[in-house]
Amino acid sequence: FENEHTVRRFMAEKAEGQFHDRYERALEQVRTEFGRKYAMIIGGREVRTPATTSHVSPIDTRIVLGHLPVGSASHVKQAVAAAKKAFESWSRTNYQERVQICRSAADIMSQRKFELAAWISYENGKNRYEAIADVDEAIDFLRYYSEEMERNNGFETVMKSAQPNEKSRSVMKPYGVWGVIAPFNFPAAILVGMSTGAIITGNTVVVKPSSNTPIIACKFAEVFKQAGLPDGVFNLVIGPGGKVGGELVSNKDVSGIVFTGSRDVGYGMAQEFSKTRPKPLIAELGGKNPAIVTETADIGKAVDGVLKAAFGYSGQKCSACSRVYVHKKVKDEFVKRLVEKTRDLPVGNPLDPNTFVGPLANEDAYKKYQRYAKMADRDGKVLVGGSAIKDGELKHGYYVQPMIVTGLPKKHRLFKEELFVPILCVAHYEKFDDAIKLANESDYGLTAGIFSGKQEEIKEFLDCIEAGVVYVNRQASATTGAMVGCQPFGGWKSSGTTGRGTGGPHYLTQFMREQSQTIIV
Ligand code: GLU
Repeated sequence: FENEHTVRRFMAEKAEGQFHDRYERALEQVRTEFGRKYAMIIGGREVRTPATTSHVSPIDTRIVLGHLPVGSASHVKQAVAAAKKAFESWSRTNYQERVQICRSAADIMSQRKFELAAWISYENGKNRYEAIADVDEAIDFLRYYSEEMERNNGFETVMKSAQPNEKSRSVMKPYGVWGVIAPFNFPAAILVGMSTGAIITGNTVVVKPSSNTPIIACKFAEVFKQAGLPDGVFNLVIGPGGKVGGELVSNKDVSGIVFTGSRDVGYGMAQEFSKTRPKPLIAELGGKNPAIVTETADIGKAVDGVLKAAFGYSGQKCSACSRVYVHKKVKDEFVKRLVEKTRDLPVGNPLDPNTFVGPLANEDAYKKYQRYAKMADRDGKVLVGGSAIKDGELKHGYYVQPMIVTGLPKKHRLFKEELFVPILCVAHYEKFDDAIKLANESDYGLTAGIFSGKQEEIKEFLDCIEAGVVYVNRQASATTGAMVGCQPFGGWKSSGTTGRGTGGPHYLTQFMREQSQTIIV
């Protein structure tokens, strides 16, 4: 169940033999650091609060990972002021220097990869392959955006001259302070990717990590400092979403927000954020991602692709596959094989090298799974899974069984709502047009996959599917696992506000505004 990304990289580094050793040693190292007190970073200073919260692991809630400060709106205000001050010089630092700092951060993360991955496993319950891939992806973002800056000459373009004595150019300039509001599911890749987008283009940031993954965010603040990022460019405020996120969104000195999270929170932000004046909001807001399996599909490949996309990291990816539409003729075979493989998926402690499905990240998700499993059982036919695991050591964490349900009405809530837990709905279709229609019948449009052996079907799918990231016959994973620089990752419809993907050629321009400069010579 290795993540393709990680394995490919390790083969290349010829370090495969050391993979497990290095991760195990990192786990040991990280355990010696449990229970420490962490600080926010504001203008390069460590800021603590008298009250702290005990931060526990979803693997086993008896494990106290550390004690975190409880930031408030006033900390956000201080951080925004520090970021605003730092912007004065950072925005005028030449892009080559900014690129060089980002590349150093990538190198440091590479050296600390296993340690960072071990923290991720403990904080959000990712297995080792997914955790290491998460750090790898963060490194990829730093390097890819560095290359993009260079490829685009710092986003300065010589324009035509309107008059013989005029010289004109287009210069892309940073906005100012960005709020970065990050999710728990890719606490390395998404937090670092969004922050890098802002920083490398000359903005400064105030970052609010997810309350499930604050420690790894502290490690990244450390990495950026080690890399030579000036104080005040990357500020970190840890605290409750309502207060900290709320202040970031309403603060008049915040010029842009970059956010990955749920649609409802994103919609709320969009309404609030531009009250004072129009400002950029780059938001990735989840998905309800379909896979279509046609009668000409290679069923083995389709089963593998859907299995990984639905249940990788316990379904807690915006890109997770949560709906499958399979042709009536092949439905029985597909479902039988998928159910068998799902039943065999190793669920358990993610620190165990054999585990594929670890715990859910928090109690809310754990309860949500149980609520929706009940609903599925009431309104459809549950083929596998459906229960929380409440015996043995696993009863101390948020473990649930991957679940497949069929027989639901096609407009049922479970086909519509993003659940972010390992629940997959399967339905059949008869005409290919209906499959596309069903796949598009969603408010969301993030990822989608098809398994088909017929060129006309594939073309129809590519022409008509409403999603930002689409895959054809991808056995490695039907809908998840975009790679930086290969598959730009962004959503359409309710899944995103801008339709420009992370890790793609159009991402960075969103963090800048154009200045047209004309000089009379
Ligand atoms: N980029 C990830 C993928 O392609 C998903 C990110 C997310 O869940 O937000 O699977």
